[in-house]
Amino acid sequence: MIIIMTPKATDEQINAVTDKLKQFGLDNHVSRGVERTVIGAPGDENKVDKEALQAIAGVERVIRVTQPYKIVARTYHDSDTVIDINGVKLGGNQIQVIAGPCSVETLPQMEASAAAVAAAGCRMLRGGAFKPRTSPYSFQGVGVEGLEMMKQVAKPHNMPIVTELMDVRQLDAFMENKVDVIQIGTRNMQNFDLLKEVGRTHIPVILKRGMSATIKEWLMSAEYIAAGGNHNIIFCERGVRTFETYYRNVLDVTAIPVLKRETHLPVIVDPSHAGGKAWMVPALSRAAVAAGADGLLVEMHPTPCEAWCDADQAISPEELNKLMGELKITAEAIGRTI
Ligand code: PEP
Ligand code: MN
Repeated sequence: MIIIMTPKATDEQINAVTDKLKQFGLDNHVSRGVERTVIGAPGDENKVDKEALQAIAGVERVIRVTQPYKIVARTYHDSDTVIDINGVKLGGNQIQVIAGPCSVETLPQMEASAAAVAAAGCRMLRGGAFKPRTSPYSFQGVGVEGLEMMKQVAKPHNMPIVTELMDVRQLDAFMENKVDVIQIGTRNMQNFDLLKEVGRTHIPVILKRGMSATIKEWLMSAEYIAAGGNHNIIFCERGVRTFETYYRNVLDVTAIPVLKRETHLPVIVDPSHAGGKAWMVPALSRAAVAAGADGLLVEMHPTPCEAWCDADQAISPEELNKLMGELKITAEAIGRTI
């Protein structure tokens, strides 16, 4: 473990750190440089409460040498990773909005969706062909046919497609249909066998946060994918479950700067599954962009009230258009483009 002190750290503050390290059973080697003091602390980092050290006055940064996650960590790769999705760059200065219906229904519905998404200025199309539903009696998605439909309607607009993979047995169909981005849903964030399988491909993966997952668990799930050799991972915050009932989930805006600090990989936000209501989508989207998200995953349906799944939270093509205009202003305010 390495503790970097602020340039003005006093001897008492340095002693407070070494005392704390001793309490945790770690050694300490104090190195007083011209600018600042750095304390090296060899020993078992698992015994250390990093936050307790971070809280000591005069401490600038505490770095774990042996983080449980390695490849996805910011320490592995200092600059932001930009993922090239068939020419669409995610993770750079330009914010990407991925939009489309919750589920793929029919060809006309998907044609209208693709046209509306492209017309609004978005560069990627979403849609679920395989749907994880709470009830086995609810619509389960149109399956492989949905992948074909998505590719077909996205092609004239030159848009990559994003769709959810629920089971390793569907992976071949995803490869055959050249799915551009695989989405791993909240319910599968810790489906480790599934993560290992997508780790063997090089297809970009949107890894949604488990609805009750900690950030560390989420990072560890990403590490599963990365460990297999696939480093094209995009984190997607989609709200966590709490006691509140006025909205579907609580959008954890705090997770955005935390992830941007912990990982070099892109971070996007799904405001639709967070709020669960269409009217909340603009406010949550603006908050996400303002907090540093690299993109959004938004549910839009050509006729929201007729959607077969998540009708309440789908915005209309007109609302998407308006949202893109609002987000342009938010993006410009923080020096980004959309
Ligand atoms: C979805 O994006 O369609 C979806 C099912 O999301 P989540 O896994 O976040 O519930
Ligand atoms: Mn949905």
